Amino acid sequence: RKNIVAVVGRPNVGKSTLFNALAGSRIAIVQDTPGVTRDRIYQDVEWLNHSFTLIDTGGIEPDSKDIILSQMREQAQIAIDTADVILFMVDVKQGLTDSDSKVADMLRRSGKPVVLCVNKVDSYSRDSLDVYEFYNLGIGEPFPISAVNKLGIGDLLEEVVSHF
Ligand code: GDP
Ligand code: MG
Repeated sequence: RKNIVAVVGRPNVGKSTLFNALAGSRIAIVQDTPGVTRDRIYQDVEWLNHSFTLIDTGGIEPDSKDIILSQMREQAQIAIDTADVILFMVDVKQGLTDSDSKVADMLRRSGKPVVLCVNKVDSYSRDSLDVYEFYNLGIGEPFPISAVNKLGIGDLLEEVVSHF
């Protein structure tokens, strides 16, 4: 079966923006899966000579008691359980948050390979230095990207497919 990559992280870090950025002409299928909340979306991605299924998730807010947010967390956990590689996205503009650390713990427990992606690094000046902070999550090298400007995507995907 095809390798599965799940994009997880707090709401608003830019998961769906990356998901859509990868939805170029090379995307074979974009589909909602019946019986699954709209927060969990699958698409087949072809990149260089690799193909994999990408799962977008609604986001994880670890401590929220809010019903929607806890359902989103549940969906994200299903995506994590299904995935071969997890693409963990954080936001350089917000910096490292408590929720990021909790999501990191959750991902560590999954035992799956995790690729740390620092989004919203739109410029090389100040943003780039702020990326180093995310080493503190203890899950390895942070890969800076700008999903909006489609920067850093190649290096990120190279790291992702290296775990297949
Ligand atoms: P999600 O909740 O993680 O799926 O986040 P979205 O993809 O919906 O994005 C949340 C907000 O962040 C939107 O306003 C996006 O336009 C913005 N955003 C996403 N990627 C970037 C980026 O690379 N740079 C900047 N500056 N904003 C971004
Ligand atoms: Mg989204």
